[in-house]
Amino acid sequence: MRQKRAKAYRKLMGLYSMSFGFRQPYQVLVDSDMCKSATESKIDLTKQITTVLQGETKPMITQCCIHELYLLGKAQQPAVDLAKTFERRKCNHREPIPGDDCLASVVGETNKHRYVIATQSQPLRAKLRAIPAVPIVHVNRSVMILEPPSDATIQSKEQREEKALHVAGSERAALSGQSTLTKPERKKKGPKGPNPLSVKKKKVDPVPEPPAKDKGKRKEKEISVSSVRAVVGEKRKRDGTDDSETLGVGQEAESQQDEPKPKKKRKRKAKTEALAVADTCAVQL
Ligand SMILES: [Zn+2]
Repeated sequence: MRQKRAKAYRKLMGLYSMSFGFRQPYQVLVDSDMCKSATESKIDLTKQITTVLQGETKPMITQCCIHELYLLGKAQQPAVDLAKTFERRKCNHREPIPGDDCLASVVGETNKHRYVIATQSQPLRAKLRAIPAVPIVHVNRSVMILEPPSDATIQSKEQREEKALHVAGSERAALSGQSTLTKPERKKKGPKGPNPLSVKKKKVDPVPEPPAKDKGKRKEKEISVSSVRAVVGEKRKRDGTDDSETLGVGQEAESQQDEPKPKKKRKRKAKTEALAVADTCAVQL
């Protein structure tokens, strides 16, 4: 088989597999004429079919088709022997009917069992082309041919693809619906979200808890500093007692500096302020 043809057949079987669920081993229904011509032209039918379909195959023959071969008599014994190596497909025709009709009935309107049909019958092939997804194989001058996809097959494939797209679209809509549903939930959580931002600041504080205590202290200090300021005015007049207070503030500030410094500038500013105030207080004193 030529490279080009092999590629085309591989692509075609890929189409049947992808779009219509054909699976290996491909079930190949072989008719009586095919068996006859195979033995006459000494073709290894199974091998040829496997080569053309480019995958594992399971050749099959219906009861009616093998009955046709029996009717041909001893002259066609090799064809009968060949057919006997194939798996028998029960077609449930109590009285044997013509092979073409039998195969057409087995394929039905949809080829739901996904058969590949190997037939030499022109009328049957024409009939099967009207049914989507029926790979058809025939022998032409001892060359096995896989027919190109029929119009029905191509149409059905396109319809399926479109359906799949629509399904995908609806799924997307469902998904987006879900997402819009989930988004509000997130928004509900959202109010908690902004808080984390404010919590961030809080988080900074809770981690170095001791400084938080300092906060209180600082406030006290500030108060004390302001009170010192306030007091200082009086103290100018009074003098004496505030020494201890101002010294205390200064000491505390220094001790804070010695502590680990997780606090941010603000507090340092506060400290420096406190220090400055202490200094000024000292200077003033
Ligand atoms: Zn039958």
